[in-house]
Amino acid sequence: MFVCYFLLMSEKLYYKDPYIKEFEATVTGCFVMADGRYRVSLDRTAFFPEEGGQTPDKGTINGMPVVDVILEGDEVFHIVYNLLPEGTKVKGEIDWDHRFRNMQMHTGEHIFSGLVHEKFGFNNVGFHLSDNSATMDYDGKLSEEDVRILEDLANKVIREGHEIVTFFPSKEEAESLDYRSKKDIADGLRLVKIEGVDLCACCAPHLKNTQEVGIIMVTSFENYKGGTRLNYLCGERAYKDYMRLVDLETALSRLLNSKKEDIYAAVEKLQGSVSELEFSNVALRRMRVSNICENCEKSVVFLTGDDADLLRFAVGELKSRFCGLCAAFSGDDEKGYRFLAECDGGDLTDLSEILKERFDMKGGGRNGLLQGSLSGSKSEIEVFLLNECQNLFEC
Ligand SMILES: [Zn+2]
Repeated sequence: MFVCYFLLMSEKLYYKDPYIKEFEATVTGCFVMADGRYRVSLDRTAFFPEEGGQTPDKGTINGMPVVDVILEGDEVFHIVYNLLPEGTKVKGEIDWDHRFRNMQMHTGEHIFSGLVHEKFGFNNVGFHLSDNSATMDYDGKLSEEDVRILEDLANKVIREGHEIVTFFPSKEEAESLDYRSKKDIADGLRLVKIEGVDLCACCAPHLKNTQEVGIIMVTSFENYKGGTRLNYLCGERAYKDYMRLVDLETALSRLLNSKKEDIYAAVEKLQGSVSELEFSNVALRRMRVSNICENCEKSVVFLTGDDADLLRFAVGELKSRFCGLCAAFSGDDEKGYRFLAECDGGDLTDLSEILKERFDMKGGGRNGLLQGSLSGSKSEIEVFLLNECQNLFEC
């Protein structure tokens, strides 16, 4: 049956004209898959499959959704939920909004990669385009300034309106051409020429003119495998993201009760206020802990779980009043306690062993210091320390 497929390999309409939105075709094969969906091949198709780092077209066949389009060998398979018997005449419709956005993103990548190659000699070594993200990878390091210069140049190329053509050169013709190459495709070498800017081998649908890209924006970039990875947006997707940022700016402006142009200064001021409050909060908590330590009769204190960062401070306060073992705990009976214990000149090795055995202590220490966490109730821990470790409290 597969021999039959290859003999009846579908005509790829997206090569001839990437602007075809609807087409008529005949089903050449329809097989049920293990998951109950169907793999359908047609004698001709405008559906671009998942290929070259780009996710496939969306759309319908006879009104039924095409949920995936895959390329196996030279054949394009459409994945649908319904049976379409061989010989059925069908009408295919491409989700044009989705396709056009992909063509904007893909053509924008050609422009940018052509400029990266021309200005820096770096190659495009990775490309990923899905509905949620798009990345371009290069085999050399680009600085922030490099990226902004390239972005400016790419947008200039877009505005200038360069014509874009695709063609299948003969072997002899190809040998005389200097082109960037990602990989040869099954149907032979297909070149995409952006007049005066770039020549690159590629299999995907592209726009006819750079002006249709609209705009290209690099949204972020990072070092990646010794080179550079850029996240970017073009055309409709860039516009949508710009609107998202405008909405975000408006929301922040309302939240901060500030003019849009003053948002940055307002956030800086807010950060300053938060730092001051945090400082005051720590000072107040230290005062409270200090007060607790001043009023305790033994050198063991229990703090709330929120005061876990003040254990060292509490032990310091206890040491100013007591000699021998000083210990501070924070937490509760249910979740357990974090603790810090110090005994100047004392040996806490035995205490550590008993705590491990009786209170499942995790942690350790040396030179008269012990810290970690343990399980048990406040009363059990207090009784144990004050009754069974009396020698440690002696000076
Ligand atoms: Zn391409």
